[in-house]
Amino acid sequence: MAEQAINNNDTSVQDEWGQICSQLKLEFGETAYDSWLKPLTIGSLNNGVMNICVPTTFMKNWVITHYSERIHKIWEHKNPEIKQVNFVVQTMNSGDTSLLKKIVSTPTPQNLYVSNYESAVNDYIRPDSSSQLSAPLNPAYTFDTFVVGKTNEFAYAAAHKVAESKNVSFNPLFLYSGVGLGKTHLMHAIAWHIRQQDPSRNVIYLSAEQFLYKFVKALRYKDTAAFKEQFRSVDVLMVDDVQFMSNKESTQEEFFYTFNSLIEEGRQVIISADKSPSDLEGIEARLKSRLNSGLVADIHPTDFDLRMGILQNKARQMGIALPEKVAEFLAQKITTNIRELEGSLRRIVAHSQLLSDREITLDMTQDVLKDMLRSIDRKTTIDEIQKKVAEYFNISVKELQSSRRARTVARPRQIAMYLAKQLTSRSLPEIGRKFDRDHTTVMHAVRKVEELIVEDTSLAENVETLRRSLEN
Ligand code: ADP
Ligand code: MG
Repeated sequence: MAEQAINNNDTSVQDEWGQICSQLKLEFGETAYDSWLKPLTIGSLNNGVMNICVPTTFMKNWVITHYSERIHKIWEHKNPEIKQVNFVVQTMNSGDTSLLKKIVSTPTPQNLYVSNYESAVNDYIRPDSSSQLSAPLNPAYTFDTFVVGKTNEFAYAAAHKVAESKNVSFNPLFLYSGVGLGKTHLMHAIAWHIRQQDPSRNVIYLSAEQFLYKFVKALRYKDTAAFKEQFRSVDVLMVDDVQFMSNKESTQEEFFYTFNSLIEEGRQVIISADKSPSDLEGIEARLKSRLNSGLVADIHPTDFDLRMGILQNKARQMGIALPEKVAEFLAQKITTNIRELEGSLRRIVAHSQLLSDREITLDMTQDVLKDMLRSIDRKTTIDEIQKKVAEYFNISVKELQSSRRARTVARPRQIAMYLAKQLTSRSLPEIGRKFDRDHTTVMHAVRKVEELIVEDTSLAENVETLRRSLEN
């Protein structure tokens, strides 16, 4: 076969892949991205067929069912030359899978560090021993770097108390908030604190997705006994983003089992999610009630003071002079979440440093963040989109949000979802929530409308008219 291996200089395809990765991260969230998509590498391109390398067959199947269609769509959109996306299992440069099997069956320090093996692959393939059970912790996420304000003081106090106490105080501690408001930061901070105070305590931090992955892998290698064994010696178990467990019954079952036995043995369990236990969908009732049985603490959206505090703190850590005016401007404009606030500060700092330490000013800030600010100024909200679309199609907003599937309602609903994706910076799950649907429904709607715009000119015109009226 005359396959052309991608040359590393082929920056355009590499660039495209980089952009696709960023988009996938936005759409599916960081956890899913880190678990399933980050280990992918682009392979060869042959007659419009793009080969993407996956480290294991299991991952390949998972990626095909969950992500391939989206990857293909985005790529095709960026580069019409790409007709098909293929996934191939490529474990080693040599393509030698026997070594892989050896690693799985006999973990020795040598074969855990096979040199030409991607580190990501190592993480995914090597059997877990309890020391490797925990996901890595971000050194920047400590209590010291966590700025406390009115909106997060309760969650902070609860987290701090749990980290300080030798005996279990609230079990489980359940933290919840919207994205980018500090749940993961607080969990890592607890882990760092305990590890520092008493290194003999075994603290495990995992995302629910990683828990799921490890469990499914154990099932696959018929090694569930070893999986359970790993949790025996755990003193503190933290599972981040448990909303990822919704509708995955067997994992929930296993998690429930692990979780109950740890709590009964007096070990500390800390859980986070994007909703309160009662509002979590697709989670079994007895698991919900167990999650509710300890202390539930939520982090509210930020207020101006907290945003100012965070900006000043960050600027201090980065060793830069951030004029008060610029901080105020950012704190007023960027209200969505802390991740975006930090992102905008990083952009400004990078810009000033690249231009040989140009001073940070309000003008420069407005210039660097122009695109972002424009979309904020437009301030199109999902509520507005729903209202306009409902009016336009002569239905009520209630109907738009209902479960009715009649075409006259379903099509406007898809259009509203599409416009929400296009005109706001809301994530798919956030949009879904406004329509009482999950993110896959929104994704489907977006794709459907994208297709229809090409096929159906009158629909395309309707969408365009709506877009213009919303953008004004
Ligand atoms: P979540 O897990 O709720 O989505 P993260 O914990 O990942 O949010 O927080 C997003 C970013 O914002 C991280 O870089 C984190 O360090 C930062 N952050 C969140 N809350 C605070 C805070 N109170 N003080 C300082 N930084 C914060
Ligand atoms: Mg998080």
